[in-house]
Amino acid sequence: MTYFLHRTPSILHNVARASVVPGSSGGGVPASAGPVDPGLIEDLVAANRILADQGVLDGYGHVSVRHPGSPERYLLSRSLAPELVTTADIMEYDLDSNPVDQRGRSMYLERFIHGEIYKARPEVNAVVHSHSPAVVPFGVSSVPLRALYHMSAFLSVGVPLFEIRDAGGMTDLLVRNPDLGRALAKTLADKPVALMRGHGNVVVGSDIPLAVYRAVYTEVNARLQVQAIMLGGSITYLEPEEGQLAAINVGGTIGRPWELWKKKALGK
Ligand code: MN
Repeated sequence: MTYFLHRTPSILHNVARASVVPGSSGGGVPASAGPVDPGLIEDLVAANRILADQGVLDGYGHVSVRHPGSPERYLLSRSLAPELVTTADIMEYDLDSNPVDQRGRSMYLERFIHGEIYKARPEVNAVVHSHSPAVVPFGVSSVPLRALYHMSAFLSVGVPLFEIRDAGGMTDLLVRNPDLGRALAKTLADKPVALMRGHGNVVVGSDIPLAVYRAVYTEVNARLQVQAIMLGGSITYLEPEEGQLAAINVGGTIGRPWELWKKKALGK
């Protein structure tokens, strides 16, 4: 196959077209990237429940993982409260956020957040979008969210703010189309977290445990930062170099909370 691809541009064209099979959604239904290791699906289900347990997700919000069989596909639950997600609810999407096999299932309106970030960030393999409550005030205030302690050292690279009016004017604040998703991904740039004004935040990682860890500790940092501000004195945040050093250390220990969270979440 590769031989023909190199020799014959017209065959390359045909092969590219063949990755899309005819369907009902105008341009066609994207082909599946194939079966996925059940362990990864289990981790994605666990991530949904962990983030609900930790107060990051409630009835809303979602978490996805890039398909291990193709960087052009990702996996995300059908539209469902995260705490209720099971393996049967996981759907596959292309990076334009078209479903591979919809079967009448309803889909998250804001799935474009995931697809557009996966397009922009090849090293990102997991995305969390939440309205985690303690973080929301920092999206509407002039006080920036800053790394307060070593557990949230990843915030010390800075936390950009997505102003949806800059991208879409007056909206219902939902990232409900590819253009808004692209604008959000542009604001996120190379950072692990972006705030969404009047809405929530988005958190990314190289795998599910890291994205979950970051989403949890973004919420905890926001709570602690408000407490520090309420004490009334001046606040010493992590220096960028401290942030870098601490993030490296914590990065090696994420398996510890992950195993605990997963056991509790799936043991329900
Ligand atoms: Mn949302």
